[in-house]
Amino acid sequence: MTVVEIGPADAVSSPREPALQISGITVRPRQTPINRRTFLAGSVAATMGAAASWGRGRAAALDNKALIAITLDLEMSRHYPKRGMMEWDYEKGNLDADTKKYAVEAGRLVKERGGLIHYFCVGRVFEQPDVGWLKGLAAAGHRIGNHTYDHVNVKAKTPAEAQFRFARAPWLVRGKPVQQIIRENIETTTIAMNGRLGIAPDGFRTPGGFSDGLDDRPDLQKMLLDLGFKWVSSRYPAHLRGKEKEEPTPDVYASIIAAQARARPSVYPSGLIEVPMNPISDVTAFRTTFWKLDYFLKAIRMAVEQAIETGATFDFLAHPSCLLVEDPRFETIKLICDLVNKASNRAVLVGLDAFAERARARAGRELSRDPRANSAE
Ligand SMILES: [Zn+2]
Repeated sequence: MTVVEIGPADAVSSPREPALQISGITVRPRQTPINRRTFLAGSVAATMGAAASWGRGRAAALDNKALIAITLDLEMSRHYPKRGMMEWDYEKGNLDADTKKYAVEAGRLVKERGGLIHYFCVGRVFEQPDVGWLKGLAAAGHRIGNHTYDHVNVKAKTPAEAQFRFARAPWLVRGKPVQQIIRENIETTTIAMNGRLGIAPDGFRTPGGFSDGLDDRPDLQKMLLDLGFKWVSSRYPAHLRGKEKEEPTPDVYASIIAAQARARPSVYPSGLIEVPMNPISDVTAFRTTFWKLDYFLKAIRMAVEQAIETGATFDFLAHPSCLLVEDPRFETIKLICDLVNKASNRAVLVGLDAFAERARARAGRELSRDPRANSAE
């Protein structure tokens, strides 16, 4: 029996988290409990860095399989639940009851099917009185990453560009350089997550995706490493979307499939690992292009099947605030679970930490063959 342990090597498995059986593999999911004294000493980043000393054996166990992840960004999306609803731009983290309910039910359904979900949480959620639902998700073995506090654009040149909230209420960030606003927005989320859930974030995802990832911003790569992150999910490759409200033509599907090759994990020269999002995302399909659910299911099926056939990766990107309107019966999430389970031992449903771990192991092997190599897969 293959046993795969995912998570920091020195984390202690919680008895509340039973091992998951996925496609014949036993997967033990873990998150790092934060030692409160260490936290109070102010060395959150140091703790995260020390805890993230990943073992090599686990990466090897995943080496010959397609890695599939279901990731849900926990934020409110403009135009949901109704077109014209724009106020969420100013309070992305003020999740409503239906969004939280969808996120929790998705976690239950995926766990029931032997997998886990990687959530990315906007820090302002932690201002809400009840975060028991998030504690429950973490205790069930799901992953929770950092998605900034206010959903800021990390490549913004001005405070107003960073977030609508700062354009409307500039006094919140008065006098601060934009780099400082962005850094604090990420750091504050980590502190809030530590304080309210007692865990460190499992990875960082940039609000919005960039077709060039962080290739053009070594300073941001360094900042994330400084803040204790080993990997970032920032790249979303460009692809055709077709015409609004029309059924996608074959060249649209072909373009989405072709884009998967530009959404493979890699290692930046700084050492930060990139774990891209794989097209097509729910907001691109439904909000931007007015797709019907059947079009979306077809595109996701094709992309996941391609990943399974080639032993590659697929990082499904969606938002409960959007899916609860567009896919109220969880058809997409169930489809992904079914495709992975049907693939038996050729695919496994994991968190993005496993993508990063494998990318790092592969890059290490490449490096030992060719000192100039820095790509992982
Ligand atoms: Zn987002």
